[in-house]
Amino acid sequence: MEKLPKVGILAVQGDFEAHAATLARLGVEHVFVRTPRDLEGVDAMILPGGESTTQWKFLVEEGLDRSLREFAARGGAIFGTCAGAILLAREVHHPDQASLGLADITVIRNAYGRQLASEVRSGLTSLSPEPIEMVFIRAPIIDRMGPNVEVLATSQGQPVLVRQGRTLIATFHPELTSDTTVHEYFLRIASGKLDSADKVLARD
Ligand code: GLN
Repeated sequence: MEKLPKVGILAVQGDFEAHAATLARLGVEHVFVRTPRDLEGVDAMILPGGESTTQWKFLVEEGLDRSLREFAARGGAIFGTCAGAILLAREVHHPDQASLGLADITVIRNAYGRQLASEVRSGLTSLSPEPIEMVFIRAPIIDRMGPNVEVLATSQGQPVLVRQGRTLIATFHPELTSDTTVHEYFLRIASGKLDSADKVLARD
């Protein structure tokens, strides 16, 4: 039988329980990660939505910033939603904040009116033919993307789901709907079924 990836969920603050519930629906094991030691044996990490400033402080205090960078360097897959997307970005502005720098994107947290509104939208992705529900809550904006970043979905002209190799980023919250499409896609990345050569074409 195929081995499912063991997934860690950063469980410091934010909606980590919602990610756990989504994984449970898919029959996938998870552990909550609060210390570098919790990362042992984990194949894939989820960084949930919430408050990125609080989450970042905790990561630094616990030494998890370093451990997560090492995890990515040894090929671990990482999925960040909303605040998690902010933590993964190379640069964070408005207000400026340090971050893990694991994805070649710049995000704007609160661009004085440019921030995406908190609302539920329906949107197409290149992951499936059906539109998915996208829950935006004080979502960051992806302002710049490097050449290795693939856009998997846009909404109102903004990239909202992007991927760089084994790193997946959603500015919305797929964990807050019953649709498991985005988590299933992440598990395929984590299982090595979608390598970076397997480029998924973005829709217009
Ligand atoms: N804007 C929030 C932050 O800066 C993220 C919001 C969210 O995760 N829903 O952390």
